[in-house]
Amino acid sequence: MGQRVAPRIPGHQGYVAQQIAGGRLVRGRATEKVWSYVAACECGWIGKEVSFPTSDGADTCEGEWYMVHVLPLLGVRPVKERR
Ligand SMILES: [Zn+2]
Repeated sequence: MGQRVAPRIPGHQGYVAQQIAGGRLVRGRATEKVWSYVAACECGWIGKEVSFPTSDGADTCEGEWYMVHVLPLLGVRPVKERR
């Protein structure tokens, strides 16, 4: 994911993890039924939001990965939180 906006940060390639029954996250093509999408990053970061396993859900994951994980890595955060 992340082809639209993602900056290239070495070690931080985001992807949509597919959650199967039991809660295990699968990267790539899952062989079992996928129940939800969760944002993930190759560095080990996992998003908190659980999304429907649809293209909209994938967009939500991409947004969470970008807003919650990538922007803080770049030092970008809401202006009012700056001191
Ligand atoms: Zn990362």
